[in-house]
Amino acid sequence: MPIAKCPRCKKLFEKSGTTVCAKCLPDEDTDYDTVREYVGRHPDCSAHEVAEETGVDEDCVLRMIDEGRILNAASQEPVACGRCGQPAISVTKRLCQACLTELNTQILHEQSRIKLPPKETEADSFAPAASAQGSGAATPHSSGRVRDTIEKKRRV
Ligand SMILES: [Zn+2]
Ligand SMILES: [Zn+2]
Repeated sequence: MPIAKCPRCKKLFEKSGTTVCAKCLPDEDTDYDTVREYVGRHPDCSAHEVAEETGVDEDCVLRMIDEGRILNAASQEPVACGRCGQPAISVTKRLCQACLTELNTQILHEQSRIKLPPKETEADSFAPAASAQGSGAATPHSSGRVRDTIEKKRRV
């Protein structure tokens, strides 16, 4: 059974068809009844208004919309992506698929930049091309260093 983090109590639980853990399920159902009742009387309300008027956590309201448990103005009208205005694929994230992919790529790019010391990269690109002759390797500096390290480790 897949393990998931309960969005209400933040504890891990075995996910079996419910989005919250067994302990929180009665609370979630109570909130659901409250929200559904309010949305029934105010069909044009936003998720934020629902949360404010019912006292139910806004994350919880958005979760119910995402799951399709409740329908209100926010779920009937496609939510726009906060970056480009295209229909969003997630109500809670407010992003379209293209922007989500773009953001993920950007995050990966930033992470790889943090991991690589910038000085090392510069030194390699400034290395004279002539030094590459003979060894056959495109980056004799770095590959040589790696080989030295490996050999040192082997000797130890
Ligand atoms: Zn829980
Ligand atoms: Zn977008």
